[in-house]
Amino acid sequence: MAGPVPSLASVPLIEVLPERYRTAVRDLCRTADDLDSHRPPTDRGGWHWYPANAVPPSRHDRGISHLLLDTAVTVHDAGVDWLELTLDIAWSPASNLVVSAAVEVACWCAQDHNMHPVREAQWEVATAGELVEAFAAAAATVRGWLSTGPHDPYTWRRQAGLPDASIS
Ligand SMILES: [Zn+2]
Repeated sequence: MAGPVPSLASVPLIEVLPERYRTAVRDLCRTADDLDSHRPPTDRGGWHWYPANAVPPSRHDRGISHLLLDTAVTVHDAGVDWLELTLDIAWSPASNLVVSAAVEVACWCAQDHNMHPVREAQWEVATAGELVEAFAAAAATVRGWLSTGPHDPYTWRRQAGLPDASIS
């Protein structure tokens, strides 16, 4: 993993993205800048990338998420309890790319799962044009969650039927 850097423009996307997606770089940076401008003041921001995953995963280790790029928008951070909105690009099992947006909350189950994605949207993309559109759609999804909330992890967990922290 490399990063974080404050702006997607500082990520060497040309080295990370498969060749057929590289014409998407400028549009991806524009979308990322727009998302960065909507981050809450408490969010540290930043983008990570994964140079070791630049080649497609081999058949035997499919099923694991092979990230190329990701960021998280921290909406709530009370140390042990938190709410993050994530945006990432990873390999799909078919060796295309898949763009994902998710709402992630801290786990309060008796057995610790660390994190639960309580909302997730994914777009599999085969071309640079599709990647541009999907990345914009994913960023718009994250901005939508940012503006509508909920802005605390408790409400998301309740809605997902997950155990909650005892905060009475
Ligand atoms: Zn759990």
